Amino acid sequence: METVKHADHYNRNLECPACGKKSRFKIWDRIQIDKNPELRDKVRDLSLFRFQCPKCGHETYLDYDFLYIQSNLRLVIYYAPGGGDVTNMHQSLQKPEYEFMKAFRYRLIRQRAQLLEKLAIFDAGYDDRVIEIMKVMIQSFLAAQASPIHASLIEFTHSESGDAFHFADQSQQKSGMLPFNDSMHQTYQALERDLGEALPPDDMLEITPQWAVSFVKDHQDLFA
Ligand SMILES: [Zn+2]
Repeated sequence: METVKHADHYNRNLECPACGKKSRFKIWDRIQIDKNPELRDKVRDLSLFRFQCPKCGHETYLDYDFLYIQSNLRLVIYYAPGGGDVTNMHQSLQKPEYEFMKAFRYRLIRQRAQLLEKLAIFDAGYDDRVIEIMKVMIQSFLAAQASPIHASLIEFTHSESGDAFHFADQSQQKSGMLPFNDSMHQTYQALERDLGEALPPDDMLEITPQWAVSFVKDHQDLFA
């Protein structure tokens, strides 16, 4: 495979899965929004990862490892969907020039859906540790309804029409959404205030739904 290495991206020859024609595609292994602001939206609408064959028009989305840095969100994401090791990404940031990123939040993300959700949470100005805990509470709330909903998936979304939690109960094929309204916002603020010290440091890599479930279990006193 022919690759030309640049600082942030390189070109790879990709074979179209439909017609076999080879063409060049730009792979970004380092997405720095401060340096390339145009990438901000292209990551969020996934167009940066869309490969379209120039011969037959076949479209496919690539999912590969990259480092994502956005200073105004104080955010570093190690994105490794294949489950790979991110030590190299981490080490590449251990230079004096990155000293200003000491107080950033560092996250390890393994799935595209989680990447988009994390970005939505941070774009909306929230703390993902608190949002993940709210999702556990919403799960209990839905399960306690007269006709219980066992949400296997709860996802935060951020758009111009407002923020919301979307949920799905796959066993009953039910889904719905709860708008992030004023009372939701008050719950958020109360949690942020009450959990304060108990929350893990912001450089804890994996703030996942599984993490939130065990956090709530280990801090029952805070949720009484
Ligand atoms: Zn093709």
